[in-house]
Amino acid sequence: MTQTPSKTSQSEALFARARTVTPGGVNSPVRAFKSVGGTPRFIREAHGAYLTDADGTRYIDYIGSWGPMILGHDHPAVREAISDALQYGTSFGAPGEREVQLAELVTRLTGAGKVRFTSSGTEATMSALRLARGFTGRKLIVKFRGNYHGHADGLLVEAGSGLMTNMDGQLGESAPSSAGVPEEYASLTLVSEYNDPAALDTLMAERGTDVAAVIFEPVVGNAGVLIPTPEFLAALHRVQAVGALLIADEVMTGFRLSLNGATGLLGLKPDLTCWGKIIGGGLPVGAYGGRSDVMDFVSPQGPVYQAGTLSGNPLAMAAGLATLRALEADAGIYDGLESYTSQLAGGLKTLAAEAGVPISVNQIGSMLTPFFVDAPHGTVRNYAQAARSDTATFGRWFQELLARGIYWAPSQFESIFVSASHTPTELDATLEAARAAFGSLKTTSLASTQEGVTP
Ligand SMILES: *Cc1c(COP(=O)(O)O)cnc(C)c1O
Repeated sequence: MTQTPSKTSQSEALFARARTVTPGGVNSPVRAFKSVGGTPRFIREAHGAYLTDADGTRYIDYIGSWGPMILGHDHPAVREAISDALQYGTSFGAPGEREVQLAELVTRLTGAGKVRFTSSGTEATMSALRLARGFTGRKLIVKFRGNYHGHADGLLVEAGSGLMTNMDGQLGESAPSSAGVPEEYASLTLVSEYNDPAALDTLMAERGTDVAAVIFEPVVGNAGVLIPTPEFLAALHRVQAVGALLIADEVMTGFRLSLNGATGLLGLKPDLTCWGKIIGGGLPVGAYGGRSDVMDFVSPQGPVYQAGTLSGNPLAMAAGLATLRALEADAGIYDGLESYTSQLAGGLKTLAAEAGVPISVNQIGSMLTPFFVDAPHGTVRNYAQAARSDTATFGRWFQELLARGIYWAPSQFESIFVSASHTPTELDATLEAARAAFGSLKTTSLASTQEGVTP
């Protein structure tokens, strides 16, 4: 590699310290750069569209904390809302007005009857499934290969990016995709193929009356971006006819693809929806909600237990409220995000073609993945097609971008996230870096064959 080591010495030192006290040196696996190689950058601060690492290097950020930072980092309205809330104490363990305000806003924007807040997306999906089982009295759930719904035991089956990235080759047919998940749990999770309506129809015809819920990413971000076909969406809605609940996992897409997420954009009619990421504006919040008759099964109203010491935390509610209010107040915001991201997509297609590098771009709203695979744009539709990507070439492209100040997602199987702070200046700088990165792939591919794999 050609980067000067001195540019990352602080991150290297922090990573070495971190590895002695934390597994792999990180608190969430994809942060470790395992699939792309090199030293993960330890981030010191983030403002607008930029991250600054521990060595003082600035990057244009396309992670957005993996989705929450749709307004950009350190947004004034969000910062002010958090500072204001801070004056009144940080946690009460008793209800407060902000929880009511955020629940009113979320139900108004999404059409959900009732909503319950948690502290993460994982808790939201886990709780929604318990609720579906409690409501229907059935045991089985159905999910789709390559969809990720957080790390609850029953959901770590054929489960998306972190696992595609970090546990390569250890995935098995309908087997748990993590050690520590008993086969008995995994056996209650049936897996079907994304964008395959016939497979879902067949599965539901055979097992449908035992299925409590079908959970899905309405636009997949966690295998890289995969966009659902109208036929698949229609098949999803047919599961409701056999009494299974349809659960839209909008943890990533909620408030990102529209004010009513993918549900609004694609006209979905789920029974329950899970949220996370943007709903907390950069603080830890998740939520699940939907039909009031179903939500009334949740404790203390109903028999399905679910709780949280920090659920509805006042600082987190304040950040979520400020974020959703800013999104609602700016009528052009989603068009602006779409425009930036489609220009980025168009630029990448052109530059890759000019450099003779085969890629297949999927983009919707402010979500985008360039799969390093030889297929027409927009045709990567499921896990198997995404998994054909040349991850080694992606890794080199990622490193070339990073060396030029562009912080892309450090895995082939992730979406990038554009924020409202990204302007034409960042777009031009990104495309200039991408041109150089594509151009250098031929030379570095020679070099890296000689040197072996990236450290
Ligand atoms: C991020 C994500 C989750 C998990 O949320 P956490 O807050 O990380 O627990 C669940 N579902 C989807 C679709 C996600 O993108």
